[in-house]
Amino acid sequence: MDKIKYSRGQKVFVISSKPYRDTCDICKGVGEIKLKGRFYTCPECDGNGKTYIYNRKWRIFEGTIKTIYINEAGSISYTVCSKLNGDYIDSIDECDIFIDKKSALAACRKRK
Ligand SMILES: [Zn+2]
Repeated sequence: MDKIKYSRGQKVFVISSKPYRDTCDICKGVGEIKLKGRFYTCPECDGNGKTYIYNRKWRIFEGTIKTIYINEAGSISYTVCSKLNGDYIDSIDECDIFIDKKSALAACRKRK
């Protein structure tokens, strides 16, 4: 079995191309839109103020390691809590996790 490189609670930079939640573009995060003087629940985000972004581009997010998962074959993956929106992103491979932003940026550029 491989040695576990990162530990729980550790602050890391992750590169990912998975969909992520960000502030809704239609309501700007308010959750409501105004039409003819009335307020309506934003149809884009259902009033959450956040929507999923599916651009499939590699990007960096900062977060904290929450869980470490080792499967039967001995490969390791992590769940990281994103600093951006508090979401949990799981099944992150060790090769997509970095201690410093500079290394994460360099790796991210290579993926594009
Ligand atoms: Zn919205």
